[in-house]
Amino acid sequence: MTRAIGIDLGTTYSLAATIENGRPLVLPNSEGSYLTPSVVCFAEDGLPWVGEPAKRAAASMPHRTVFSIKRRIGSDYRVKVDDMEYTPAQVSGFILKKVKADAEEQLGERIDRAVITVPAYFNDRQRQATREAGALAGLEVMRIISEPTAAALAYGIHREEAHTVLVWDLGGGTFDVSILELGDGIFEVRAVSGDTWLGGDDFDLRIADDLAQMYRSITGAAFPSDLGSRQRLKEAAEMAKIELSSALVAKVRLPLPDSERPRCLELELSRERMENAVHALVRRMVAPTHEALAGAGLSVEEIDRVILVGGASRMTAVRSLARQLFGKEPYRYVQPDLAVAMGAAIQAGMLLGQVEKVVLLDVLPLSLGIETEGGLMARLIPRNTPLPASGTRIFTTAKDCQTSMSVHVLQGERAMALDDISLGQFDLSGIPSAARGVPKVEVAFQVDVDGIVHVSATELLTEGEMNVAVTSAKFLDPQEIAGLAQEGALSEERDIAMRQRVMAGIQARNLIAAGERVLDRLDDPRTGQLPAAIANLKLVVAAGVAEEIYACAEVLRWLLAATSMEEPSRLDVPSDSLVVSHVY
Ligand code: AMP
Repeated sequence: MTRAIGIDLGTTYSLAATIENGRPLVLPNSEGSYLTPSVVCFAEDGLPWVGEPAKRAAASMPHRTVFSIKRRIGSDYRVKVDDMEYTPAQVSGFILKKVKADAEEQLGERIDRAVITVPAYFNDRQRQATREAGALAGLEVMRIISEPTAAALAYGIHREEAHTVLVWDLGGGTFDVSILELGDGIFEVRAVSGDTWLGGDDFDLRIADDLAQMYRSITGAAFPSDLGSRQRLKEAAEMAKIELSSALVAKVRLPLPDSERPRCLELELSRERMENAVHALVRRMVAPTHEALAGAGLSVEEIDRVILVGGASRMTAVRSLARQLFGKEPYRYVQPDLAVAMGAAIQAGMLLGQVEKVVLLDVLPLSLGIETEGGLMARLIPRNTPLPASGTRIFTTAKDCQTSMSVHVLQGERAMALDDISLGQFDLSGIPSAARGVPKVEVAFQVDVDGIVHVSATELLTEGEMNVAVTSAKFLDPQEIAGLAQEGALSEERDIAMRQRVMAGIQARNLIAAGERVLDRLDDPRTGQLPAAIANLKLVVAAGVAEEIYACAEVLRWLLAATSMEEPSRLDVPSDSLVVSHVY
């Protein structure tokens, strides 16, 4: 069967996806990234550079570089470089040509058909010009679909019962609100609104101004105002903004003018300061949202699902606003900047009759969980839970002053992480430094109808959203699943014993640490039998027999409580403490 791709032709970034084994697959470009900057730079020889090289060239050739051409598509605007003139459709065509070529290279086959997405409010002229851009890139445009519809397809909402969906699409340059009504598997766009001059770029400019102010207050001089320096400042602002979607503090390096050697000024920008700087911009999302609701004649309560789309919707401030306005958690288990391309690929697959082959997972075939201290698997969602499914659990730190944790996502029925299937691992940093057991990190899993697992973590003390990661549940064939489930059942007794032994070890080590702290604090005869009890417990932990560990631990616990030097609650850090990745 011939292959077709779905293309999200964005204002700042473009990307492509295809259908592989019945499910959408986002394709990396030749630079190894999913996102190709929608930037074209006309080099001196007249050849267009597209994507990352063009973006990089912008600092040295600002007058030959074209950004955000999507804002002009369908208009009479012309890009003039040297003595050449290009229509917006031609410039968009160069972008599509690169996206197509990269997809072909990635897949190792020719692609000549595509579904391309446009904002829901695009008029006929704009849609027509987008088609023309596709044709100029050598693509037969099978269909132009609206971005919110594509996003809803990516979320699998067309397979759910009829309901009302509100889509917030906050991209690089524009903010779109769309309200969709789903019935009989078809989406109808009920109302649209938005702000065509609100997006990630505007956040970058605001953050850049703030950085320039910080620069001025530290160096006493204004930040250089030439185009190249401003461009570098804006890039630094964008990098910091992206980092602050997962970290609480971002390091920013700004070049310092120095005639002898290159030097940098290193600044720290906190999420709080950044959110203050962009607060007014984020609030600008409210009015168009009310407008769209009024247009559809709906109240906030009548919205069943809120979907976030567009790279800039990853900002924590945007998610908080969604929560505040709609009183519900927005859907976000598909990566917001990939959703539209994935939806376009699904539409292409539907047109080619490929998507019927989608392996529908109606229940989770094997449990999902994460590895905790001692190599134990803590289950978040048990097997056979109907999809979509979600599960949360609160974890803590295993060591004092532990500021980062490692989240190892597992699938399977076995007690020990080693015996389960590893789906991926990522680090959470930015945990406030505190005694072990004090920080509370809520890890949440959301699994969509296609088995894509979205992992997020929130630090509950600071309410800081820490990190998100997406991984895919393994699609094993029914025989393998049955085999693994059976293996789990057969090993149940052995696994229970193993779990007990590991838990006993963890508790014992906590008690030993508590005992040693008491000994350090008090060089006092009242500690009496403590040293002997600690030494004894260490011995039995090494031998690893659960019953003995429990018995000796009990003695130490009793002694510690009797000396009343330690709060009993501090003696047992819950076993759900995450694996230490780094201790700073
Ligand atoms: P899009 O047009 O949907 O690709 O969105 C592009 C915008 O999303 C740019 O302004 C990016 O800087 C921004 N963006 C991408 N990733 C993140 C992130 N993790 N946090 C905040 N903004 C992001």
